[in-house]
Amino acid sequence: MIHLPDEHGRFGAFGGAFVPETLIYALEELKQSFYSAKEDPSFCNTLDSMLRHFAGRPTPLTCCENLSHKFDCKIYLKREDLLHTGAHKINNAIGQALLAKRMGKTRLIAETGAGQHGVAVATVGAKLGFETEIYMGSKDIERQRLNVFRMELMGANVHSVNSGSKTLKDAINEALRDWTASVENTHYLLGSVLGPHPYPDMVAHFQSVIGREAREQILEAEERLPNMIVACVGGGSNAIGIFRSFLSDAEVRLIGVEAGGSGIETGKHAARFGDLKSGRPGVLHGTYSYVLQDPFGQIIETHSVAAGLDYPAVGPEHAFWRDFGRIEFTSVRDDEALEALRFLSQTEGILPALESAHALSHAFRLAETADRHEIIVINLSGRGDKDIFELERILRGGHEPLRPAV
Ligand SMILES: *Cc1c(COP(=O)(O)O)cnc(C)c1O
Repeated sequence: MIHLPDEHGRFGAFGGAFVPETLIYALEELKQSFYSAKEDPSFCNTLDSMLRHFAGRPTPLTCCENLSHKFDCKIYLKREDLLHTGAHKINNAIGQALLAKRMGKTRLIAETGAGQHGVAVATVGAKLGFETEIYMGSKDIERQRLNVFRMELMGANVHSVNSGSKTLKDAINEALRDWTASVENTHYLLGSVLGPHPYPDMVAHFQSVIGREAREQILEAEERLPNMIVACVGGGSNAIGIFRSFLSDAEVRLIGVEAGGSGIETGKHAARFGDLKSGRPGVLHGTYSYVLQDPFGQIIETHSVAAGLDYPAVGPEHAFWRDFGRIEFTSVRDDEALEALRFLSQTEGILPALESAHALSHAFRLAETADRHEIIVINLSGRGDKDIFELERILRGGHEPLRPAV
């Protein structure tokens, strides 16, 4: 089994730490603290206890009888949608906040696009008594008023970022700027397996509880491993969180699903691996990985109906395993994700997040041609409650009753 990353945070050619000198000290401190904490039983116990009693772990592995019947193969969902705040992001937020405590920090900063990560950070900030500051593009604040309000209810301070495209990547730049000036008392709580070392490895570690549970649960239910595991990939944290426990089981196919937006050929998407023309290795926000860029290396604006998948780069660990051939990648368009969302809702009574619906849609494609005895596990990264107004806008488009999906 290949052990990753190396001491410089590299996953093969990918990863590393491309940051200004002013952040080197903070990253070094974080590295030491994280790698010692993860071996410290008292830290691990506190983390386990908070995941259990505050976040709601372990999450169930639900067997979907109705879907299984329709497709004539076995389909299971790993239910991260049932966690506190509605998605897997809380796993990482709790881990890093406890680490920040251990380092003696009193202030948390974070960036957020759709607001889901901001809500998770504001939540743990309140629980653990931090001063919490969230950076968000002014355009995203406009689009995500309810999540902004949720963060404010939790006592967080939301900063509007007016530079650049006024979205996630500009919020990250601003958060990094804050951190440069505040490292002494502040922890930057990054939301996915992105950014400079040790973030990609650390976030993957805090999310790997998903795969450890899923492995135990499927063995208990079926007495064997699944044939395929499918997860959506924004930065890649929920995906690597479930995949890590199965990397050395060559018989288990691991499949990541990117946002195909309006279609790869339209240029309006976030398929870093799927767009062979624009998706090329490069540095963004401190790490070397696949990035959507123009011929001059300028970052291309992405599009997805799922805000959590709408980012121009992908985690370096995914880049490595993709080039290595261990993790397969594909993409699902907005309209296909919407159809899968409605199908799951009506067949199983579970409303998935738009992000998770990308994984569902591809899993349904795979299920069409699977054998009866095959098992597919889908990581249901979050619930769809946050998307309800957007869904109504897109699907209803008036005041007519919603027709049943086919
Ligand atoms: C943020 C988010 C994602 C995408 O982030 P990853 O780091 O790729 O997991 C996926 N699903 C949901 C529900 C999210 O909130």
